[in-house]
Amino acid sequence: MSLGAAFVRVSTGSQDETSQVKTIEAHAEDRGIRIVKWFKLHGYSASHGTQEPALREVIADIGRGDYTTLMVTESSRLDRREDLDAQAEILLAIRSAGGDIISIGEPQFGRTDFAGRIVTLVAQHANAEKSKTVKRDTYRGISMIIAANAHHGPLPPFWAVTGERYAKQAYCTDPGAVRDVFERVANGESLAAVGRSHDLYPASVKSLIRFAANHTGVEECRYTYEGVTQTWAHEVTPVVDSPLWWRANSVLVANVTDARANKGGRPVASPANWISGVLDCPECGGKLYLNAGMTPQGNPRTPKLRCGGEAKKRLSCGRFKGCDAEPVLDLITGMFASDTTDILAFQRVAGNAHELEALNAELRKIQGRLSATEDDDELDALVAQRRAMKARIEGYVIVPDTFDYAPTGQTVAQMWRAGNDAVKRGMVRAVKKCGGIALTHHEDQWTIDVGMAEAAEGVGGVGGADGIVDLGNGLCFRRQAQ
Ligand SMILES: [Zn+2]
Repeated sequence: MSLGAAFVRVSTGSQDETSQVKTIEAHAEDRGIRIVKWFKLHGYSASHGTQEPALREVIADIGRGDYTTLMVTESSRLDRREDLDAQAEILLAIRSAGGDIISIGEPQFGRTDFAGRIVTLVAQHANAEKSKTVKRDTYRGISMIIAANAHHGPLPPFWAVTGERYAKQAYCTDPGAVRDVFERVANGESLAAVGRSHDLYPASVKSLIRFAANHTGVEECRYTYEGVTQTWAHEVTPVVDSPLWWRANSVLVANVTDARANKGGRPVASPANWISGVLDCPECGGKLYLNAGMTPQGNPRTPKLRCGGEAKKRLSCGRFKGCDAEPVLDLITGMFASDTTDILAFQRVAGNAHELEALNAELRKIQGRLSATEDDDELDALVAQRRAMKARIEGYVIVPDTFDYAPTGQTVAQMWRAGNDAVKRGMVRAVKKCGGIALTHHEDQWTIDVGMAEAAEGVGGVGGADGIVDLGNGLCFRRQAQ
């Protein structure tokens, strides 16, 4: 049997008071709490701040160890609901004193709501301190690298490192291939074609072209520590002359202007539309790409989906003759934009181990303040808080954490509408991965098959295991065949 106090807030002369008292008494008995003190506040007074002395009294009582729990019928009895700062303050003060608030109407109060998250934040702050130490240790290693002017950071293809841990030397593994890549890009060959002959993705060709050390012989390394970025020069053997480097780079730059962005021409390295590179070629299993933009005569093309082969090769199989893109785009857009299924995220749905961490963090804070204060009254209060906190930690009953998928508040349609090309492509890919989207031939026409074979409707189609469509980053949505 633990001891507690209760707050009743009522309007003068109403029946409300008796009913609140009864509710609290019943719940206190269920939880094995004996109410040793009642606070009866009148409704009008809360808005005038007269409940503050009562709350201070509660905090002092808990600090002294008179009781540990404050019970209310709902948290609005403590303060105005909209004032989250005030609620967090009250909750934190009561927790720091070693107590807890039980809100009968809201069993999750102080656990998953804003104020509860504040307590979690305190624990996170302690964790941040811990990771700072790790960063400091890493920085010591980086300092040695800087002192040696050694290599640090990512390298493009055909570049590698050799040497000891803090004295790594970067070098080009195939100067002939690098020179070939530069010359061909400078001469206007497409990134896909250049990549094809060196077994590279077009984006890797780009990163090689942009790597300035290829002509300067100096790699600019950088490291950011506590907001300060340090740069140092790491010497390498240059591979191409500056004129060639500039020619190749100016070709890339010409391709990032708005007028030419992903409209065709060369050397383009990223697809134009979310559909590009997503659907499989029905003939060879390669990827289909959107073929749009202008004809050489300057007329707009009818957008078509055409086979672009495998990612590195990008060679059409020639067997799939292409199909109109518009109906396919419309169909897929329609499916996603009208799907009101909830997007779910993997998150904690039960468990209190993180609260114990919060208590431990709170204890460390009290101990820190204990060694810092000169004030006798504060010292007494802190000693009492520390005792209460320790008792609380010792008596803590851990409910194991369980995680599950819970709604994020966003629907598939909202995510689709708000998403950029990368998000849309990710969503289509995810559904396709569960067998939900495929290009099929129906009555002499290419169309999108949305898992109709399983008689399922909606975006998820036949779905993966349990109909879960995994969107990555811990997000997913669930589709059941209807
Ligand atoms: Zn093909």
